[in-house]
Amino acid sequence: MTDQPKALLAALGQQYTIVSLGIRRRQQSRDGTVKYLFALGDGNCIETVVMRYRYGNTVCVSTQVGCRMGCRFCASAQNGRVRDLTAGEIAAQLYAAEADLGERISHIVLMGIGEPLDNFDAVMDFLSIVTSPEGANLSMRNISLSTCGLVPMIGRLAEKKLQLTLSVSLHAPNNPLRSSMMPVNDSYPVEALIAACRRYQKTTGRRVSFEYSMVRGVNDGEAEACQLAALIKGMGAHVNLIPINPVDGSPYSASDAQNIRRFAARLTALGVNATVRRRLGADISAACGQLRREETAPAGS
Ligand code: SAH
Repeated sequence: MTDQPKALLAALGQQYTIVSLGIRRRQQSRDGTVKYLFALGDGNCIETVVMRYRYGNTVCVSTQVGCRMGCRFCASAQNGRVRDLTAGEIAAQLYAAEADLGERISHIVLMGIGEPLDNFDAVMDFLSIVTSPEGANLSMRNISLSTCGLVPMIGRLAEKKLQLTLSVSLHAPNNPLRSSMMPVNDSYPVEALIAACRRYQKTTGRRVSFEYSMVRGVNDGEAEACQLAALIKGMGAHVNLIPINPVDGSPYSASDAQNIRRFAARLTALGVNATVRRRLGADISAACGQLRREETAPAGS
């Protein structure tokens, strides 16, 4: 903005930064999925993924550098949280991916590195930027926010009455099992979480969806399917079944396709709407945190 007064530019420079993300690595899958490792201004790295669906392009954005939620199956959690992203850094992932692809992105999922509700204010600012007509002008209905289940924050989000889709990473239908996979369950157990989801639905009028990553011999049996169906009965909620993506240092392996189909069929028979998520980008380590980890972990770890 060289046509602007120097004093104005100096004042703007003191109060604002223009975020630009450097593409540190870029991988493209045979199925069209593109994964970026972006370098932030301070040298930290985050991951962003673009998936090509028939209905349009979806970007999966990170909300933090690392994550402090400690889920045992997740690569992003392995070295804890370094820092929160700013609203600008979250939005810049969308803009940088659109610029690189030369294509419009119509859908956003907050399912990359980090826990969105652990960076609440920046995520709310991000949502207003990307849905604003002066911003990316996306529909809130095309945005999904995924949480590991921070119950008080689900309450705060409900009060905003946004038309986005709330996805809750459930992964287990009872406390011993869920606590063994997700330490957050010790603070906010299954009953409290489901109650928060029911309140969320009531306040916002939007159905939540549940993510359930299938781990062989751990949470993929008939008993768990029945427990899950009983737990979320009457919510009209959708369950997304996802074969777990094994990460280094994790004790978990993925359920086989037949088991997943059987689990889905059991849920359906019990009146729960369930689908098996199609795996995209499996050939480019497109799951949460894997690329950043490859880049930052010492060789051989
Ligand atoms: N922190 C948020 C969003 C980021 S993780 C959350 O927990 O929901 C996005 C989704 O990927 C979550 O459902 C998470 O549990 C799941 N996930 C993380 N690592 C995974 C893995 N290795 N295999 C399958 N799903 C995984």
